[in-house]
Amino acid sequence: TVRTRIAPSPTGDPHVGTAYIALFNLCFARQHGGQFILRIEDTDQVRSSRESEQQIFDALRWLGLEWDEGPDVGGPHGPYRQSERREIYQKYSAELVDKGHAFPCFCSAERLDQVRAEQQANKETPRYDGHCMHIAPEETQRRVAAGESHVIRMKVPSEGICEVPDMLRGTVEIPWDRMDMQVLMKADGLPTYFLANVVDDHLMGITHVLRGEEWLPSAPKLIKLYEYFGWEQPQLCYMPLLRNPDKSKLSKRKNPTSVTFYERMGYLPEAMLNYLGRMGWSMPDEREQFTLAEMIEHFDIQRVSLGGPIFDIEKLSWLNGLWLRALSPEQFAEATMQWALNPQYLMPIIPLVQQRVETLSQLPQLAGFFLSGGVAPSAELFQHKKLSADDVRLVLQLVLWKLEGLRQWNKDNITAIINAVAAHLEIKLRDIMPLIFPAITGQSSSVSVLDAMELLGPDLSRFRLRQALE
Ligand code: ATP
Ligand code: GLU
Repeated sequence: TVRTRIAPSPTGDPHVGTAYIALFNLCFARQHGGQFILRIEDTDQVRSSRESEQQIFDALRWLGLEWDEGPDVGGPHGPYRQSERREIYQKYSAELVDKGHAFPCFCSAERLDQVRAEQQANKETPRYDGHCMHIAPEETQRRVAAGESHVIRMKVPSEGICEVPDMLRGTVEIPWDRMDMQVLMKADGLPTYFLANVVDDHLMGITHVLRGEEWLPSAPKLIKLYEYFGWEQPQLCYMPLLRNPDKSKLSKRKNPTSVTFYERMGYLPEAMLNYLGRMGWSMPDEREQFTLAEMIEHFDIQRVSLGGPIFDIEKLSWLNGLWLRALSPEQFAEATMQWALNPQYLMPIIPLVQQRVETLSQLPQLAGFFLSGGVAPSAELFQHKKLSADDVRLVLQLVLWKLEGLRQWNKDNITAIINAVAAHLEIKLRDIMPLIFPAITGQSSSVSVLDAMELLGPDLSRFRLRQALE
């Protein structure tokens, strides 16, 4: 039977790209009466978090994408979280070393940097030079037994062409000399993506791998690993990446990319899924509006077109409008209540507003900005006693840039960024806050803007700063 999977890394907000790839994997599996699996690829211990994992579950479920097996629902091929499968990867890595397809590498970061610098100076592709491959087996064994820090690298052919069979492109030829001797096991004993992904796809019985095009250049390494293990290759399908309206790869620097943002903006999950389904794909009759069930019924992977699909918020809004107007008044009321009075979102706001109102009717004025998408502050709100209009822009721009790089979105880190911008521009914090306030809340005073930013989340906060700069 057909088995597909989505394998997100829980390292940030749930990405619309993850939802898009999940949708196509789900449709492919369902259409063939197969199963769709969710696996969490959390081998990067520094960047992965359980909160991010939970957000991925929530985002996919909100959209209506359900999985048959996964960390939270279980299944016969578990555990479905890579951090719980260490011994499995160690065993398979050892097998590759035994068979001579991989080798321990003791090179220090300094040595690797030096080799890379020399290669770059000679205009060669930076690549591991094979140094540790030539150490005598007994010496390698002795050094490993003595506990010397090392990684495991895979061997790759140094010449020739790897033919990558792709369901959409036919055969893609990639020269072997572009491939590095990939690290499979890190010094901390955890696998890299390459080893863990191949081992798990095999052990979990995955028959078709639909993943983002960004992974196509590294396909030869995965193919080689299947060959080394003597395992059957799954069918491969490299999906075109979502793009910004300017054709660049969709990125949070230009567009909100988190599913949570679209949920908070008041898009219906059905409309969102419908729009993701139109990314590079269309119904045989070209109709714009369709449900997940209809998409599954008519799904044909060969109808995916390779031109980069453009994720355009205006088109999405137009489609969402169609969906909203198709609701009965009761359904519309229900959707509104689910969106506005969703306890998960509402509860953290209560402590900020409860002490400040005498009647509930004061709430919209005080806290309405939590519910609106953009806030359209008037230009006067940005007039500053001490700063010129250019300086005001500079402040907002710097805060925005710094927030784009923020990994852990919380009040302390946001505060630290605003403080750093203030220090950098030699402006007092109390002169900067009156600019952040209107950008985020649309008014000159309200509840604590730092608390508000934490609750609004990264995409919505950045969206409003970008709007203030327009
Ligand atoms: P950004 O460019 O906004 O910083 P990112 O590259 O950091 O995004 P990741 O966190 O690396 O995003 O990716 C999260 C998931 O989303 C990955 O599974 C990745 O394949 C997918 N993804 C990221 N960008 C796109 C895209 N443009 N189209 C489709 N999927 C994408
Ligand atoms: N963990 C990878 C990601 O986040 C999975 C890619 C794949 O599907 O192989 O994109």
